[in-house]
Amino acid sequence: MARIIDGTEISRVMREELAKQVAELRDSGVTPGLSVVLVGNNPASQAYVASKTRACEALGMKGQTLNLPEDVSKEELFAVIDRLNADPAVHGILVQLPLPAHLPYKAVLEHLHPDKDVDGFHPVNAGLAFVGDPRAFVPCTPAGIMEMLRRESIPTRGKHVVIVGRSLIVSKPLASLLMAPGPDATVTLTHRHTSDLASYTRQADILIVAVGKQNLITADMVKPGVVVIDVGQNRVPDESSPRGYRMVGDVDFDAIRLKAEAITPVPGGVGPMTITMLLANTLQAARQARQARDLPGSPR
Ligand code: NAD
Repeated sequence: MARIIDGTEISRVMREELAKQVAELRDSGVTPGLSVVLVGNNPASQAYVASKTRACEALGMKGQTLNLPEDVSKEELFAVIDRLNADPAVHGILVQLPLPAHLPYKAVLEHLHPDKDVDGFHPVNAGLAFVGDPRAFVPCTPAGIMEMLRRESIPTRGKHVVIVGRSLIVSKPLASLLMAPGPDATVTLTHRHTSDLASYTRQADILIVAVGKQNLITADMVKPGVVVIDVGQNRVPDESSPRGYRMVGDVDFDAIRLKAEAITPVPGGVGPMTITMLLANTLQAARQARQARDLPGSPR
């Protein structure tokens, strides 16, 4: 029976560590600040944003939400981002996705100053992360998965990691982090057009699934002793829950748990780590801003 990798507990420990580092930075006169831009009234986005700013405040950082109307124009949104880019009290800026269809989300993300792009979606940060530059803001979900593997002492060197999904937000940055010197994994990336997916997933020492399809991975698709990281978040109707639904991942948790060595649950696995890494990135942004203030001319 697999050990459960408890993302909530790992996050709790990490947030205690981060709170101490925030206190030290505050003692030196800098309070890390995160501004979240939310367009429209999507209830799921509102809930995510509220939990992000709450988590900031709990750590002693400043968290503010700017809620813009659903029909805000591109120019108005850019003007808000320009203001935040120029505000020295704001170290991190996050634009909550998805944006309404009339807003070009790529152009919006590229409008953020790369030094404040704590989600790590700006091409400058994607490039820095790809070349292994420590100044990069690494997207929060892959960064959280790396932290989870490290803190759970799950070795990656020489292991075959199979990732299902090829998104820019999760899978591609994760592949590059895992294959870098240090983690030293052999990585296979699969996606919707991969033929015979099971022939790859069965080879995995570590299987990471980031697709968004309930039960995509069944027990016959994994080998005994595998470590499974389930990134998927799928809502399934559940009348016994007060919300009317519950969250499940992409893997058949109950069956795979009998075969695997370790597995992340949904909820309580990768999800909490994602917000924790957002806090870590905001702290990093504040530190880099202080360094730039104290040592003008230093790169980033
Ligand atoms: P995405 O929609 O951008 O990408 C999905 C990927 O799955 C694509 O690359 C596609 O090729 C692949 N895919 C689709 N069907 C497939 C199939 N049948 N076989 C193999 N591959 C297939 O998604 P994303 O943004 O990477 O998110 C993936 C999932 O992870 C979603 O459920 C999302 O909610 C979840 N997620 C969770 C967190 C978290 O913090 N826990 C963060 C980000 C995303």
